[in-house]
Amino acid sequence: MTDNQSADPADGDRPAGLSQHRRAAINVAALADRVVAVAEPGTTWRTALWRWLRPRSSGGWPEHVTLDAPWQDTASPERPGWRERAANLDGQQIFAVDYLTCAPCGIGWVEQPATEPDYRRCGLARAALAAVRTEHPGLTWHTLGRHLSDSRAFWIAIGTDVPGSYTPRRLCHHAHARTHSRV
Ligand SMILES: [Zn+2]
Repeated sequence: MTDNQSADPADGDRPAGLSQHRRAAINVAALADRVVAVAEPGTTWRTALWRWLRPRSSGGWPEHVTLDAPWQDTASPERPGWRERAANLDGQQIFAVDYLTCAPCGIGWVEQPATEPDYRRCGLARAALAAVRTEHPGLTWHTLGRHLSDSRAFWIAIGTDVPGSYTPRRLCHHAHARTHSRV
């Protein structure tokens, strides 16, 4: 899995003659607003075990919990206090994005949308972010970090008509406290 923020999320220019796996990924994207398999914070023992085995500072690629559903929502294995929305296809995670919301401040943050290279330009990022916004109505949406130059086109495309437009914004004190409390 690599960062795909430079990928164009637009769905209007899909290449002709889609391969079967890309067609399957597009079908997964279409399911993003349906029921998502949810694992509540602290209930996924594999994540908990991984955190114990591999503290955040040790680096390395975190293990992902894969639920038996096209879309899943779990505790982020990378960011304490954050959620991870991910898409699965044939038992493989093909997309993931971390997000965090603060109801009192009316703000949501997303970080690091990443798509497996073979499944880029299938609309997964756009569908996932739209689903998360629908589930948390009334928020303005931001990213945490500054956008790298090669990801600006992605965020401009994905943030059009979205309150906040996914511009960078620091965490509020509520969110900051949640991300620094030990699970
Ligand atoms: Zn807040």
